[in-house]
Amino acid sequence: MTNQPTQQTANVHHLRIGDLVLTTLIDAYMEGAFQLLQNIDESEARRLHQESRRPTPPRITLNVYLLDTGNQKILIDTGFGPVGGGTGGRLLDGLKIAGYTPDDIDTVLITHVHPDHVGGLIDDDDRSVFSNATILVPAGELDYWGGDMPEDVSDAQKRQFEAAHRVIKAVGSQMQHLEGTEVLPGITRVPLPGHTPDHSGYRITSGNDQVLIWTDIVHLPQIQFPYPDATVAFDTDPAQAAATRKQIMAEVAQSREMIAGHHLDFPGVGYVIEDGDGYRFLPHVWDPAV
Ligand SMILES: [Zn+2]
Ligand SMILES: [Zn+2]
Repeated sequence: MTNQPTQQTANVHHLRIGDLVLTTLIDAYMEGAFQLLQNIDESEARRLHQESRRPTPPRITLNVYLLDTGNQKILIDTGFGPVGGGTGGRLLDGLKIAGYTPDDIDTVLITHVHPDHVGGLIDDDDRSVFSNATILVPAGELDYWGGDMPEDVSDAQKRQFEAAHRVIKAVGSQMQHLEGTEVLPGITRVPLPGHTPDHSGYRITSGNDQVLIWTDIVHLPQIQFPYPDATVAFDTDPAQAAATRKQIMAEVAQSREMIAGHHLDFPGVGYVIEDGDGYRFLPHVWDPAV
């Protein structure tokens, strides 16, 4: 029995977007809890969770995305790195399997400055992991998380500020404020505020293909697709986060635009449709050819 597999090998998934390739790299999963959820009865959250047949306590998938334009290698967020909290930590293994080294990354595009998105910018000794990269950070994120901690923050938000300060101290010299919506050719920023002050999605367009990386619109898909009013404890503005979620879900359900999300189950790409009072996620179907 010793030859049975004990580890997953599929750490990467490629998706062609016109002339570009978008690769999902699984980093980790985080252990969630029903108490994280707000604006939904816990009994209803448990019912939706149980219907999904997912493991309990509820797990939150953590993906990272890499966009290869041919000329540029753009990493979209960086997973947890050494700032803790996840099970896995496979980002660098995944990059290697996909044929890249950290030095190949010329741009890191940050969606928001939460530890599970920026922690991987540094190693255990606070050295820069992607030392050749320009790190583009939405201006409102860099200013908020790089500034003084507000006095009324929760313990969870205090830890987020501490992680943000650690990362910014280590690699702040590589960071640039990202203003406006034009990011790079084929990439536009889509402000999706609420989860954090300047939480930003990125729309990638090439030829007739398009995908919206909506990042942290959903943390618990089994609950927040059918019940998009449900918020999570680490939203900085829960009411705005719920309003943004409902608006973008309605938009992409109507437009049929493909979406990708850092907390959607690997490979985290697919479509959204209306379903009753809420929505449902339809995962992309694997294809051997890229
Ligand atoms: Zn977040
Ligand atoms: Zn996140």
